[in-house]
Amino acid sequence: MSDLTIDSVATTILDVPLVRPHKFATTSMTAQPLLLVEVRTRGGVVGFGEGVVPGGPWWGGESVETMQAIVEKYISPVLLGRRVDDVTGIMRDIERVVANARFAKASVDVALHDAWARSLGVPVHTLLGGAFRTSVDVTWALGAASAEEIIDEAQQKLDAKLNFSFKLKMGALDPGEDTDRVVRIARALEGKAGVRGDINARWDRLTALKFLPRLAEGGVEMIEQPTPADQFEVLAELNALLPVPVMADESVQTPHDALEIVQRRAADIIAIKTTKCGGLKKSAEIAAIAKAAGIACHGATSIEGPIGTAASIHFACSEPAIDFGSELFGPLLFDDELLQVPLRYENGQVHLPEGPGLGVELNMDAVKTWTRN
Ligand code: MG
Repeated sequence: MSDLTIDSVATTILDVPLVRPHKFATTSMTAQPLLLVEVRTRGGVVGFGEGVVPGGPWWGGESVETMQAIVEKYISPVLLGRRVDDVTGIMRDIERVVANARFAKASVDVALHDAWARSLGVPVHTLLGGAFRTSVDVTWALGAASAEEIIDEAQQKLDAKLNFSFKLKMGALDPGEDTDRVVRIARALEGKAGVRGDINARWDRLTALKFLPRLAEGGVEMIEQPTPADQFEVLAELNALLPVPVMADESVQTPHDALEIVQRRAADIIAIKTTKCGGLKKSAEIAAIAKAAGIACHGATSIEGPIGTAASIHFACSEPAIDFGSELFGPLLFDDELLQVPLRYENGQVHLPEGPGLGVELNMDAVKTWTRN
């Protein structure tokens, strides 16, 4: 076996253009910034991880710029000279020098898994216990555009058999208008596709009490994170009130957050992003808590590029607790292909890439094209 000692850690920021602006509750992006983390061993094996947040620090306080500083100045010294198969020990020791910063830690956790698996000549899912499936359902997210535009785009996706459920990003418009818009979309797609609403924690309790029942009556099949992340009691109240499942996203970033959700029965589904949760190991801890409580899990996204998405596919295909599909569509929003062989999306699913490590190979010319100067 090659020498597993970590010899270097390098970071690169990319700005990859999107096929169309992606609108969130408080911001819109035309290019997605990605932090590529490269871990190289003395044996010459290279593993990649991706630091990525949805469009900037509005979601959780981190950005590619903060992640680059944290990884280079504070995390890299913990890694150098250690073996890539010492992931448990390394991630524990990182906790001693860096609090929170889970998106940054996830980029390192994934790069270590990729390099470790490549050193052994096995896929990352083997390190996670093996893949029990080779594909996972993918829902498609639609922004704050008009009902007509959204219905058009959804119909195209349905006709092409690319997706069979849709998540509407809400919270940017007036709540009444936003509710009417989404109910019109749900009615237009009734019987053809499921429609879900993600409010990204933008409504207060009274707004949620007023409009969420209208969304549920209007045919919206699931409500994601309507109210602020730390208000677990409000989420629990809404979950008890609504006839449709509530999904916690911003509220669950740590295993302890998952425990709070379980104890309060504050959600029926937990959105697990391998990025926001701090990597593959922490995501598995959250999945275990949810599974033990009979709470479903969704393979969620922070609009990762192909490296981050591949990591989440390996996780979803080796973790039965991810039993409420996924939204691992990130690379489809990018206007350039960063891989030598693209990830395979068909029939409403994304497929587990084959090969050692994450099973994907970067096209370094494309990486160079979008590297920030
Ligand atoms: Mg969300």
